[in-house]
Amino acid sequence: MSDSAPTPREEVEAQRVGAGQLRRLVAYASKVFDLGSWLARVEDARRKPLTLPGLIAATVLYAGLLRIRSFNALEPRLGEKPFLRLVGAAPGRQRLCSVDTVGRALCRMDLHSVRAILVSMLHKAERNKVFREGWHGALRYVAIDGWEAFCSRHRHCPECLVRRVKIKAKDGTPIGVVPEYYHRYAVALLIDERFDLVVDIEPVLPKDLRPLIVKGKGPTARLVKSSLDEGELTAATRLIRRVKQTFGWIDVVVADALYANGPFLTVLDSLGLGAVIIAHKEGDEPLREALHLWADEAPHKIVEDDNAHERTSLWDCRDLETLTTYDGKIRCVRGCVTRLKHPEQPPSTWCMLVTGKAIRLSPEKVLAVARARWHIENTAFHQWTTRWRFGHVFRHHPDALRSLFWLFLSAFDLLTLFQYLQLRSYGRDCGKNVTRTISRLIDEMLDELACWQTLVWDSS
Ligand SMILES: [Zn+2]
Repeated sequence: MSDSAPTPREEVEAQRVGAGQLRRLVAYASKVFDLGSWLARVEDARRKPLTLPGLIAATVLYAGLLRIRSFNALEPRLGEKPFLRLVGAAPGRQRLCSVDTVGRALCRMDLHSVRAILVSMLHKAERNKVFREGWHGALRYVAIDGWEAFCSRHRHCPECLVRRVKIKAKDGTPIGVVPEYYHRYAVALLIDERFDLVVDIEPVLPKDLRPLIVKGKGPTARLVKSSLDEGELTAATRLIRRVKQTFGWIDVVVADALYANGPFLTVLDSLGLGAVIIAHKEGDEPLREALHLWADEAPHKIVEDDNAHERTSLWDCRDLETLTTYDGKIRCVRGCVTRLKHPEQPPSTWCMLVTGKAIRLSPEKVLAVARARWHIENTAFHQWTTRWRFGHVFRHHPDALRSLFWLFLSAFDLLTLFQYLQLRSYGRDCGKNVTRTISRLIDEMLDELACWQTLVWDSS
């Protein structure tokens, strides 16, 4: 089954039964991604459950997709026929279970089987040649960044990170310092000019859960506990190893200045991944050396983009070897972008470190890839907190959070693929504001679900 646009016959069929986008989405998920069978493979550790893990997983996935805001809001849905039909409950079943059961099942869900839903969807999309052409330079890019899901001063769990925050009275008088608990993740997002898909996510671990570290050398060496919470870079290194192991077709990592260091570039090299990393610190190598070499040089290239109304001056420097923690050559590119409609504004300047497969890109493509990194903050993180319910703590438990995020992220990818590959004209009709377009689509799906009360169709 290819990801082609629906045929006229499919369009007529969709309208004939009076069902719109939600029915099409369910059919698409079933036909193209075999979603039902992947949900059915989800396991959990409950003994003889009355509601199978696959039904719980489907409930959470569709709750995420339809932006149901809390378990309280989900509770009545679990006894509504249209929702039971949507998640694939047996005909005649009056009620699925309580939301407490959903919460308990999430705590005991097998993470490998939940993650497999998203992994299988991406593998299938790749086999269907959705990413065939790659992007700039025919390469596939993942952006990596840190994301804080939520924070609380009251509730916490063993996987919470902790920071101390100062609190003040209304008049600004300092009252004291309190602990604030939060969960932070390293996220990998496949970036493309059409759409962005989540590839993987990895929690940043608190000090108590970190692996022991070796202290000392030789006969006095011993394993000790770390006294600090893990950093984003450590979690991201674990993440990128798993991403490459799972999706061997990914070529290049795009990241912010936190990742501009020798050890991380060395990990990427060992995995066969190229890099386009933002560099900020002018005193750090190899940017320092590049800036020294470019000091009096005119731009090596000037590019005008009539569509974006921009003029970009570019400097390029290959084969830098001044970063002592990296055993290889690094290319440095600098781009200064002037907005032609606002020549009075100072140009924005970007510096990038480039390694591996990304070396083949022209300097303007290097800049385009680095600027696309903002997708991860604009498209994903912004949408997750403002339009989706990723910031709501449905159940504060480390495994429940992971299972829930995996299911919500599967819903995010499914909806993105559906919108861009199946509803092409829909996207155009609704303008260029992606976030608003998706919100409108969800509203239509919720209205449609309400009409399923009387509708009979086969969702198998
Ligand atoms: Zn926690």
